[in-house]
This record gives sequence, structure tokens and C-alpha cells, in this order.
Amino acid sequence: MLDKMSPNQTAARVLDGKWVRDQILAELKPRVQKLTAAHRPPGLAVILVGNDPGSEIYVRLKIKTCGELGIYSEKITPPETITTGDLLGIIEGLNQRPEIDGILVQTPLPPQVDKDRVLRTMSPDKDVDGFHPLNVGALVENIPGPRACTPVGIMEMLRRYDIPVAGRKAVVVGRSDIVGKPMALLLLHANATVTICHSHTSNLAEECRRADILVAAIGRAGLITREHIQPGATIIDVGMNRKPDGKVVGDVNPDDARALAGAYTPVPGGVGPLTIAMLMANTVEIAERHLCSA
Ligand code: NDP
Repeated sequence: MLDKMSPNQTAARVLDGKWVRDQILAELKPRVQKLTAAHRPPGLAVILVGNDPGSEIYVRLKIKTCGELGIYSEKITPPETITTGDLLGIIEGLNQRPEIDGILVQTPLPPQVDKDRVLRTMSPDKDVDGFHPLNVGALVENIPGPRACTPVGIMEMLRRYDIPVAGRKAVVVGRSDIVGKPMALLLLHANATVTICHSHTSNLAEECRRADILVAAIGRAGLITREHIQPGATIIDVGMNRKPDGKVVGDVNPDDARALAGAYTPVPGGVGPLTIAMLMANTVEIAERHLCSA
């Protein structure tokens, strides 16, 4: 059930993540100002373990965006060699601090750290990433709680571009806890008919060609090509794959998306900017809950 394209429409619509991000941030600013005037600024603590260059870039951007919005932020940088116990100690300390509304542990974590224990130790009430099992349960049940930033950002993008979801066929390629699974659940709650594909899916192209909305969250450069795309479909490319020359490319072949899709997200500039915007939105929402229900 695709949207009708006008006979003159040839090129796919580009879904601009920066435009959506700017709208979201502009809407958050007065909410931050209101909280600051009445109580205190929202507070976000970011834990960056070690010196992974990619993680350092993401964390810098998150802290910078906090500053632009007037959110108080704190960066904690334990060494790569930190034990699970010491990291849990840092998180328990942050759980106790009333001026910290949100805690984010940047991934990847070094192999000696037990990621599951880290997630479970964080107060679910400060889990800005929506990864705590209680918040995952809230997502499954479709009750309020912080949602994983990338998938909820994609839902915002679909909404703000007026791309209908209810009654549409959505195919999500990838079933990770941070993107694929929560994406599928959000689409399901929005009344799409959802298929989830993964590395054991027997005929990926055939499954994908059924999609009115195709979300690629795989981590394989250019895996999705014209044979996976139903003409006129909306293609959301979550993939961020760094090539040897440093260039970042998506999971979808952009020429094929441009030629066949009704709308598609570019890489970079599509899904990436939404993730940080929704991290800010989660932080503000949690701060409002902490401060306004106190
Ligand atoms: P994971 O590696 O955790 O998951 C990848 C998923 O893709 C798995 O479910 C895997 O299947 C599936 N997969 C792998 N190969 C194939 C294949 N050949 N055919 C079908 N399915 C396949 O990755 P993430 O979910 O963490 O991230 C996915 C991509 O999104 C990455 O490029 C990442 O960098 C990017 N990303 C971008 C963000 C943004 O803000 N733009 C935020 C988060 C991630 P199986 O489960 O069977 O192994």
C-alpha cells in the first residue's frame, strides 16, 4: 500500500535528519529554560571508558549539544582497564546524585566489563538510552518510559515527514537490542505489519521487496540494493560503515535508493542526527519527571 507518486515524480525524496533534529532541539529549548528557571537545568552524565576514537567523537558531540541547549553535562573518563566493579561503583554514585537526571554509558565497552551488569545497575529512572530491562519491558508493553534513541528518532522522522505507518508493511533488517528489535516494536505499536530479518533470513531480497517502509540496521556497507527495494518504498538507512578512506557509508546503495525509492535517508545526514536529538529529548523528559512530580 504505497503512497501514489505523481506522474512527474522521478527522484526519491531525501529525508533530512538535520532538519528533523533542528526542529526537535528547537522544541526542547524552552522546556529546558522552564526547568532551569523553576528548579535547575536537566543533568546528563556520560561515561566514556578508554580512548576509542569513534566514541570520543560521539561523546564530544553529545556534550556540545547539551551545552547548546542549556543541559548540564558531565563527562567521566575511566581508563580502558577499569573493572566491572569499579564501573558499577561510578554508576551507583551517579544513581544517588539528584542533579543528574540521565546516565549514558558509551559503547563499545572493553571486553573485561560485564555490559549486562552495567545496564542492570543503572537506575531505570536515569536510563536515557532506554536499554535497562525494565524500560525494554515498558516498550514491549507500550507503556511510557525512555525509548532507544535511534529507533524513536526514526519514528519522529516518519511522523514529521507525514509518512504513514499504520496499515503499512514494514521490514526491519537487523535484530539488535539497540536498533532492530526496538525499531520493530515501535513500528508494531504504530500499527504497521512488521517483519524482522537477520543473518539467517533465507530470502532477504524477497522479504525486503514487500516493504512499504524498509529499515536497514545491519552494519554491512551497501548490502541493500535495487533487488531489495519495492519501487516507491520509504528506505531508512541506519548503517554507519567506515570505509578504509575514512568515508562513512550506509547499508543501502544510495544510487539504487535514489532511483527506486519514494523517500530515503542519506548517510551521513539521515538517521545519525536523530539519535543525539532523541538523547536530549529523553534527558529533558526524565528531568521533567524528576522535577515536576517532586
Ligand atoms: P549489530 O551488529 O548489533 O546487529 C546487526 C544485525 O544485522 C544483526 O541482527 C544481524 O543478524 C544482521 N545482519 C548481519 N548481516 C546480515 C545479512 N547479511 N543479512 C541480514 N541481516 C544481517 O548492529 P547494530 O544494530 O548495533 O547497528 C547496525 C548498524 O547501524 C551499524 O552500522 C551501526 O554502526 C549503525 N548504527 C547507527 C546509529 C545511528 O545513529 N545512525 C546508531 C546505532 C547503530 P544476526 O542477529 O542474525 O547476527
